[in-house]
Amino acid sequence: MPYKDKGKRLETQRKHYANNKERVAAKTRRHRTKKKAEWAAFKKTLQCMKCGQNHPATLDFHHVIKDPSNNKINELIRRNAWSLVYAELAKCVVLCSNCHRIHHHNEMVYDKKVRKKKKLLAQDTHTHYHTHKSPKGAGNGDSVK
Ligand SMILES: [Zn+2]
Repeated sequence: MPYKDKGKRLETQRKHYANNKERVAAKTRRHRTKKKAEWAAFKKTLQCMKCGQNHPATLDFHHVIKDPSNNKINELIRRNAWSLVYAELAKCVVLCSNCHRIHHHNEMVYDKKVRKKKKLLAQDTHTHYHTHKSPKGAGNGDSVK
């Protein structure tokens, strides 16, 4: 029965819950079990996009774009936040734990290379600056402005 008065509605809901705690808890448990089973069945249909590994225990969900708003899928599952789980999946690709590790390893190596390259470029520019702008080449940056 709908109530126009929000306070009354909440009061009724509170009373209903108090009188049916056990039933509500059982319903929640059933719902969670069902959702977990659905998830397990879904995970069985997935495979690593790199190597094709498809054992559900090995599969990770890797966020394609690093973003502070990303949530870990396993964390959402632990919280039984099922609608969030499926929404979060849209931001991920499936990788097995090996390929996932390798991916992050390569990322780290690449980052180091890029940092090193940037540093070298910065030094190059610096040298250039001095050789062209101050032909006397004293190397005193303060004199050239
Ligand atoms: Zn793999």
